[in-house]
Amino acid sequence: MTHTAHTPGEWATRLEPEWNGGPEIMVVAHQGNFDVVVAIVSSFTTPPSDEAIANARLIAAAPDMLALLQEAARDMAAHYDYYGIYHLMGANTDEDCGRCQWVLSARSVLAAIQGEQG
Ligand SMILES: [Zn+2]
Repeated sequence: MTHTAHTPGEWATRLEPEWNGGPEIMVVAHQGNFDVVVAIVSSFTTPPSDEAIANARLIAAAPDMLALLQEAARDMAAHYDYYGIYHLMGANTDEDCGRCQWVLSARSVLAAIQGEQG
């Protein structure tokens, strides 16, 4: 797995009904017996809007999505194209191959997540 510097632990959402004068949705990382706040999603409405809840859920799913993207990009890097031609990404990348292009796009997203230039 590629190293990332994000907060470890299982991420989840938690509603704080009276945080800072109103409801806030927190994204927390479970670490043993306590949670580390990763993000606070403001809704500005009581109860929080469906959109704010969806935003928080999306953020909370980020580590799992990252792991899946890393795994998929790694597994799809070596493949045969539609014509049976073997592609090993980097050594035999084909701009007309949809799978090669998918891997390149995934690598670009992963580089952005890791703070690298795409
Ligand atoms: Zn390909």
